[in-house]
Amino acid sequence: MILRCIPGGIFLTNCYILGDEKTNEGILIDPGEQIGDILREVEKSGLKITKIVNTHTHIDHVAGAEIAKKALGVGFYIHPEEVPVLEALPEAAMRFPQFGDVEVPDVEGFVEEGDEVGIGSLRAKVLHTPGHTWGSICLVIGDVVISGDTLFAGSVGRVDLTGGTSMAELVGSIKSKLMPLPDSYKVYPGHGPSTTIEIERKSNPFIAGGFSFL
Ligand SMILES: [Zn+2]
Ligand SMILES: [Zn+2]
Repeated sequence: MILRCIPGGIFLTNCYILGDEKTNEGILIDPGEQIGDILREVEKSGLKITKIVNTHTHIDHVAGAEIAKKALGVGFYIHPEEVPVLEALPEAAMRFPQFGDVEVPDVEGFVEEGDEVGIGSLRAKVLHTPGHTWGSICLVIGDVVISGDTLFAGSVGRVDLTGGTSMAELVGSIKSKLMPLPDSYKVYPGHGPSTTIEIERKSNPFIAGGFSFL
């Protein structure tokens, strides 16, 4: 499996390229403002990108999606409950003029809990993990977890942004969907460095206990 991380943009958002070296096919996850760097990395990888799948649609994760769709000729996939967050993108663009003109990408299809996203001969399993937004998802492929803004190294996502629900739901999603995964699984978040399920289970203050949510 090929995994590339391209961080960038004003919120240092991680875009990922996941690929299958056997078939030379790949998918793009969360193409944000750093779309120039992302397209250069796609070119360098030699992979044929077959779709864009977003963990969620906050502006820093989706600002480059329409450009990527046109450049690569691929469809854009999100969880159905994420549609209202995507529809609020023009408001987000007004609040964050640094992003410039951001076009709202059309959605070609939906991914839901338990679905498998094909990447050549590989399969990424979709986990619906509401909390950071209604339609946030994580992707599990082999021993790799793409966690979006649900789980970070040593922290969790905010719940006070567009589409956010509650800290109780976010932590519930992490505990019920991510923590049952094996300790050795590596976690690649939407911001910041990678981590493992074991490290987060043992030391993340939001998961390890001692934290109450009112
Ligand atoms: Zn977010
Ligand atoms: Zn983010």
